[in-house]
Amino acid sequence: MHRTHNFSAGPAALPTEVLQQAAEEMLDYQSSGMSVMEMSHRSSIFVDIAARAEADLRELMGISDDYHVLFLQGGATGQFAGIPLNLTAPGDTMDFIDTGAWSKKAIKEAGKYCQVNVAASSSDSNYDHIPDPSSWQLSADAKLLHICSNETIGGVQFKDFPESSSTLVADMSSDILSRPVDVNRFGLIYAGAQKNIGPAGLTVIIVRKDLCGKARTETPTFLDYAVQADADSMSNTPPTYGWYLAGLVFAWAKAQGGLQAIAEQNAAKAKLLYDAIDGSNFYTAPVHEAVRSAMNVPFTLADAELDKAFLSGAEARGLFNLKGHRSVGGMRASIYNAVPMAAVESLVSFMSEFENEHG
Ligand SMILES: *Cc1c(COP(=O)(O)O)cnc(C)c1O
Repeated sequence: MHRTHNFSAGPAALPTEVLQQAAEEMLDYQSSGMSVMEMSHRSSIFVDIAARAEADLRELMGISDDYHVLFLQGGATGQFAGIPLNLTAPGDTMDFIDTGAWSKKAIKEAGKYCQVNVAASSSDSNYDHIPDPSSWQLSADAKLLHICSNETIGGVQFKDFPESSSTLVADMSSDILSRPVDVNRFGLIYAGAQKNIGPAGLTVIIVRKDLCGKARTETPTFLDYAVQADADSMSNTPPTYGWYLAGLVFAWAKAQGGLQAIAEQNAAKAKLLYDAIDGSNFYTAPVHEAVRSAMNVPFTLADAELDKAFLSGAEARGLFNLKGHRSVGGMRASIYNAVPMAAVESLVSFMSEFENEHG
């Protein structure tokens, strides 16, 4: 079997053990004679898979009964519309902290449905920091305050979450399950699955129950949280295989020791990589140290002319998908939960060799 060290930003690496289990169960899931992909979502065998996945996620994240957990289609992008449609009325205001490309997309989409107030933005410095909360221009009457807990492209991560008089909403697509979070601080947390949860096509929404049931009449039914919660996320066909795979990832995360243990692993991986960057005269990390992401690590080489040689040298060593996003340039190493320490060690040793050769 050949597996690369995969630093893709998303869809991203999944734990090898999870893929092995999925492979073993592919043709004949627990003697049912069929693949999970081929089962009715109404069958008791799939309903069990779905319920176990939800229970494991609740346990991992400490999600109380005050919250619904929904497993829907449509990506995090679907929720950029779903959130204002469900949680605001026309004319209501959503506050946003604009910390990068994903914040910007969420702001643009919400603007179709409600008033948006960009309370703070780091766009003037190419999203290299989070503006200090004391400078935020929050509106007095906002319904929601939206943050992106981890900007996947820029590599900027909230290390602690803001206090807010309005309801806090977070796009956690690229750092959910990477560390413990106090869910009770949030009205809603949402995440596309393809970074830290499972395959693309599944979106997880954790929403406080009292916020649901007031969706606008024009809300598409499949995006209506109350309808989906009543139907156990099966008002339309849910992404069944993605849900099953997410369940395997949740079980894997529990076996790692839960989110505290995973957070320690992630911190050690990130430290190794950022220390290598900071300790060189050749690599630069553009993001302010205090908010550097433990999941997505952008860095540039001293000479952009060497980018191609770096990428091909990396691939020759089995290190894949390191090319940075075009808006940032250089490299980006995404080191999600499923990327092992060995992959980061291998990257760091290649970086040092490359610097010695070209620096
Ligand atoms: C990937 C990503 C998205 C978009 O997810 P889709 O599933 O493509 O809609 C949104 N926000 C963040 C932070 C992401 O990393």
